[in-house]
Amino acid sequence: MSLIIDCHGHYTTAPEALGEYREQQKKDLETDPLFEHVRGVINISDEQLRESLEGAQLKLQSERGTDITIFSPRASWMGHHIGNQSTSKYWTEHCNELIYRITELYPRNFIGAAQLPQSPGADLHASAAELERCVKEYGFVGCNLSPDPSGGYWTAPRLDDPYWYPIYEKMIELEVPAMIHVSGTCHRCFDTTGSHYLGADTTAFQQLMMAKTLFKDFPNLKFIIPHGGGAVPYHWGRFRGLSDMMKLQPLDEFIDNNIYFDTCVYHQEGIDLLVNVVPTGHILFASEMVGAVRGIDPKTGYYFDDTKRYIDACALSDEDKQLVFSGNVRSVFTRLDARLETVGLL
Ligand SMILES: [Zn+2]
Repeated sequence: MSLIIDCHGHYTTAPEALGEYREQQKKDLETDPLFEHVRGVINISDEQLRESLEGAQLKLQSERGTDITIFSPRASWMGHHIGNQSTSKYWTEHCNELIYRITELYPRNFIGAAQLPQSPGADLHASAAELERCVKEYGFVGCNLSPDPSGGYWTAPRLDDPYWYPIYEKMIELEVPAMIHVSGTCHRCFDTTGSHYLGADTTAFQQLMMAKTLFKDFPNLKFIIPHGGGAVPYHWGRFRGLSDMMKLQPLDEFIDNNIYFDTCVYHQEGIDLLVNVVPTGHILFASEMVGAVRGIDPKTGYYFDDTKRYIDACALSDEDKQLVFSGNVRSVFTRLDARLETVGLL
């Protein structure tokens, strides 16, 4: 039996000291939005890290029968819109460091993906530097890139704009993909994990679909559109039609080497649609646990985010299921195999 690799998990159960650090940052910004933070210290012991995971992500991995999770800091807390570049820089460094420590404590359960210190209006050089640090020093294999660091106001250029090229260049150099993932919203019209996340997934896909030269400039740039691709698979016909009207390349050709979707869709009918519509080579297993939706579905008696059950029950062949559970993840996250070998899982 091949591995079951969950490519989308967040550290949503961190000890209180992490949140307290963030609250202090916000206080520092109250009188001066340009406040230059210092890095500071967060005291969290290994024992506290273990406690925070053993009753949650680790327990669920073993109950559900998944093997290893590509693990990143809590997405809704990335909060790139808060403060300035120095706010994001130190906050991100601490968040990534905790992930690194977890991957050292549980090397066979977690592999890291980086938060990036994006900040509205700031260029991407700090993000490129942090990605390099996380990949080279911490052994991370991916990153979460927000298309909207303003937290719901969409003030950044579109994803094909040269504004983003410093991070794309670094992704190519390091051979890591990015999951396109927004953070919490500060816009009153959106709900973070409902409309803002799914809207951003859909928006990112459309932006990338309309990109003129991006994938000519970076033929091997790889993006994962999370949460099942937002509205995209459900509206595949609309996107194919728009692409045709705009005289873009056919959708299958556009996604061919660059665009992938995860399986964070929390009901059987949604997964059935996803695997029916999207070419199998572009679907990566993920649950986003412990994440946005934590309850048990009263219709099934199982957790909504127990997505392995939906894949097990869908109509794909066993061979295709293995691609979704591990083969596709291993080919998109180019550095993953080496890491799996190091920890004895390959
Ligand atoms: Zn997520």
